Amino acid sequence: MSKNKKRRLNLWGKIVVGCAAVLFLLFVGWLISRFGGGNIEIQMNGSPSMELAYGSDHYTEEGATAVFRGKLFSSHVKVPVTVEGAPEYYAAPGTYLVTYQAKYRRATGEATRTVIIRDLTPPQLVLSNDTDQSQLPLSYYAYDDVDGDLTSKVMTRDGGDGFMYYTVSDASGNTTEIKREILNHDTTAPVITLNGAEKMTLSIGETFEDPGATATDDTEGEISERIKVSGEVDTAIEGVYTLTYTVSDKFGNEASVIRDVTVRSALPTPPGAGKIVYLTFDDGPGPYTADLLDLLAKYNIRVTFFVTNQRPEYRHMIAREYAEGHSIGIHSATHSYDIYASEDAFWNDMNTMANIIIEQTGKKPELIRFIGGSSTTKANNNPGIISRLAAQIEARGYAYFDWNVSSGDGNFSIATEDAYNFVIEGISKRESSVVLMHDLNKNSMAAVEDIIKWGLGNGYTFLPLSKNSPTCHHRISN
Ligand code: ZN
Repeated sequence: MSKNKKRRLNLWGKIVVGCAAVLFLLFVGWLISRFGGGNIEIQMNGSPSMELAYGSDHYTEEGATAVFRGKLFSSHVKVPVTVEGAPEYYAAPGTYLVTYQAKYRRATGEATRTVIIRDLTPPQLVLSNDTDQSQLPLSYYAYDDVDGDLTSKVMTRDGGDGFMYYTVSDASGNTTEIKREILNHDTTAPVITLNGAEKMTLSIGETFEDPGATATDDTEGEISERIKVSGEVDTAIEGVYTLTYTVSDKFGNEASVIRDVTVRSALPTPPGAGKIVYLTFDDGPGPYTADLLDLLAKYNIRVTFFVTNQRPEYRHMIAREYAEGHSIGIHSATHSYDIYASEDAFWNDMNTMANIIIEQTGKKPELIRFIGGSSTTKANNNPGIISRLAAQIEARGYAYFDWNVSSGDGNFSIATEDAYNFVIEGISKRESSVVLMHDLNKNSMAAVEDIIKWGLGNGYTFLPLSKNSPTCHHRISN
């Protein structure tokens, strides 16, 4: 082998080695670029977190760009991005994550955008009868664009400020409130109170004057003038007549009460000259009055009560006395002899009692009995007072009655038998007796039934006093 050949061989060897080295480097470069890494940067367009209003804002995908940056060589490569999770055009409220992903060679990149769709629309609330705002709604409904029918969630409350509030909230806390002025929340009926007695009794031919009634309503106050009365009383015909008093408040709450008016045959006229007994009972009503009335009803006889207000808790018995046909006269409200201190004092006391009687019976009294009788000497420190009062009594249209028979029961401890004897002895001597008794006296009240039996058995007629009854006056000593 020549030395020249060896050199040539040497040259080829160098070329081969050089090529191999280049290939090797290229291979290493490929390895590095293939396996040597890099990263992908994703750049979102728009904000990484957004809030949208449900129903009005809609999501628009603004996209993202991704670039691969290799660690070696060139490697600024734009790569495609895939998008997932973007909310639909009319997506329900909620939180959505929009994910952007890119992949290049062995590198991957990911970015996330948060999209919150909020329900910012309050529910719709509709009250019925919007045309008549004097009524609170009879019904209502509520509907929400997200939650649907919310009628059952509507809350109502009286604000205490004259308005009723209707409130409904959706699941997202949006609230609708409507207030309606309370013009018609009165559900309480008025109250009617009769003037005078619930049961009244008249004789045929008497004039019936309706004492009327008063009415009050919790919201409107006094509404008496709106009371309507139905029914009629025919005083020409015996019977029981019912009057109905009705009143309504502005909101149609109605109340009614009734009054029975009994028209009875005229009282028997006194037979001839006498044999009449006018039983009179002073100082009540009191605890024995009810039994006395039962007894009088049992024998169907009528008497006269000269009433006082000494026991106000029995005041209502005056209504019953009157309703059962007895005569009611004024005795005194206080039954104090102080009323003889002056004419004013006397009339103040009489008027007080007259008003109580009117309140109970609806009828102005016409009879008076002086406390102590017109012969009393307990007013002697005011000379002439009884004489002056007697004249005024008649001038004012009253009649006063004393008595000509006393049961002696001004003495509270009188024996029943003694009271009976005093009365029988007195009436048996007279054609017309006005008998003084006191229905506050338990002992004498126990004598009444026997007195009645004796009178009826001996041809006496018991009558109540009236203004036209025969005068029975004591001799006035002052
Ligand atoms: Zn008396």
